[in-house]
Amino acid sequence: MNQNYVIFSQRAFNSIVTEVIDKHPIETGGILIGYILDNGAWIVVENIPPGYHTIHQRAYFEYDAEFVNYLSNVIALQYKGNLQVLGLWHRHPGSMDSFSHTDDGTNIKFARDRQCGAISALVNCDPRMRLTMYHVSPHGLYQPIEWYVDDGETIPTEFLDLHYTDAESLPVFDQNGVVYNRETSVSQEQILSEESTVEAPIIPYTLTDAVSDFKEIVQKLRRGYK
Ligand SMILES: [Zn+2]
Repeated sequence: MNQNYVIFSQRAFNSIVTEVIDKHPIETGGILIGYILDNGAWIVVENIPPGYHTIHQRAYFEYDAEFVNYLSNVIALQYKGNLQVLGLWHRHPGSMDSFSHTDDGTNIKFARDRQCGAISALVNCDPRMRLTMYHVSPHGLYQPIEWYVDDGETIPTEFLDLHYTDAESLPVFDQNGVVYNRETSVSQEQILSEESTVEAPIIPYTLTDAVSDFKEIVQKLRRGYK
């Protein structure tokens, strides 16, 4: 296995900090969802809050499983990528930054079904908030790993792509209730109209091409400004 490390999206990181502030001084936590890359990078795209029916006690904390499952699915549907549950985080009292026996049981539930295991983070406020990130092997062995927050350029933008972000991408429903994306049909129309007017063979330039070209242009502009 390569060296594991974690990158939080700014949104996910911010969500963890605001949850800790909101529940202070009692325990809280959340579920981390995102991507696992072959090079050992765990990309945390979203943090799912623990829900309503949680148990917050000193050194003990329990998630509202029904709520977490519901919200994880709702959020995952919004992204183009295939988001996965990466692991979890929770706050501990004082400076206790190692796992309890109860935590061991929870961590192994997340880690045992996957060859790459899971991640699990502990938050302490002593008094400055700090986060200790661990990789959990499928056998429940812990290894402290580095974590970073995306500076806006580290996480590839396609990992954060949402399905519907403009009027052009509004879905079309047919009589069977099947949804297809408007973008596809627009591209086909473009190709057809180009074929009817241009004699020479053409390489279809689709809306998707335009979007990726536009991204490149923007990136070049950004680099230019530095
Ligand atoms: Zn704990």
